[in-house]
Amino acid sequence: MSRMLLAPGRYIQGVDAINEIGSHAANLGSKALLTGGKRALSFCSKAIQASLGEKEIGCHEEKFTGECCDTEINRLIEVSKANGTDFVISAGGGKVIDTGKAVAHEMKVPVIIVPTIAATDAPCSALSVIYTDEGVFDRYLVLPKNPDCVLVDTAVVAQAPVNYLVSGMGDALATFWEADTCAKSCKPNALNGSTPPTLSAIALARLCYDTLLEHGLQAKLAVERKVVTPSVEAIVEANTLLSGLGFESGGLAGSHSVHNGFTVLEASHGKLHGQKVAFGTLTQLVLEGRPSKDIQEVLNFCHTVGLPVCLEELGIDNPTKEEIRQVAEATTAEGETIHSTWFTVTASMVEAAIWATDAMGQEFRKGA
Ligand SMILES: [Zn+2]
Repeated sequence: MSRMLLAPGRYIQGVDAINEIGSHAANLGSKALLTGGKRALSFCSKAIQASLGEKEIGCHEEKFTGECCDTEINRLIEVSKANGTDFVISAGGGKVIDTGKAVAHEMKVPVIIVPTIAATDAPCSALSVIYTDEGVFDRYLVLPKNPDCVLVDTAVVAQAPVNYLVSGMGDALATFWEADTCAKSCKPNALNGSTPPTLSAIALARLCYDTLLEHGLQAKLAVERKVVTPSVEAIVEANTLLSGLGFESGGLAGSHSVHNGFTVLEASHGKLHGQKVAFGTLTQLVLEGRPSKDIQEVLNFCHTVGLPVCLEELGIDNPTKEEIRQVAEATTAEGETIHSTWFTVTASMVEAAIWATDAMGQEFRKGA
């Protein structure tokens, strides 16, 4: 049994941090492939040129077409080869970040990640989620190393719709509870095979959870007004760095499997990753028979920041018994991380936990 902690080479965060990108880029190479959406491309390329000083970097800009799929990854590899790229800069949300990581991996060159939203824990991890050209989940691509540099400009993140920040909190909410389950079960980490989590991974996951409870509401209110405060800095770090390190080195368990289960219902497709993961976390706690005070704490947090606590809030109105059965079966499919739980989990147990969680959430809403 060996323990493992994974982390990006550097993590930089702050208001106007983008203005430091040149010095980090100059450490990694001289010919960049810069990919992202239109807005991300324009502010990144300006910042690179403005912050380079004496050094020179060739920067080829290539607009991301919108899906993290083999077609787009191969297209960007061809563009990189044609331009003699020796490092990649990927700027935007989860899909362009995952694409940039995959391209850099195939090219065997370093990568700088510039997240423009704090909606998921994708930026720091050594993992790309690959979809088909049509946007259906295809596979996890586990990479041999984490990004070389992750640079988050909080002023940019605060300009994005607040829904993204709240969804990132939902994703980060699962981190501690899933790591705690993996520590209890001592089963191999589904992503890197190590076991059990390091003390550091558990401590970072705990800090992630405590930071959400302490700063979540304040950060949400500030970003609604598009301003950055110490609470916004704290939540961006929790959503991006702490959640990333915590999930990758602490392990995943029930919350993310319940998320995957709900994707079989069309009605859930309008909701963001973290919104489904938040309800998945509540379901995991009920499934595991956790103390009521823990469940109440998570319910209260979700309700306060606007994460779903019941099926209706997840966009699923009056589901049938069969539909929830389908979700439960997909949740417990072979290879799902819910099997990292310290006892054997069946579809019937998940089905019961979903109904019970929904009832608790509805009850909570009445009293809130
Ligand atoms: Zn997640």
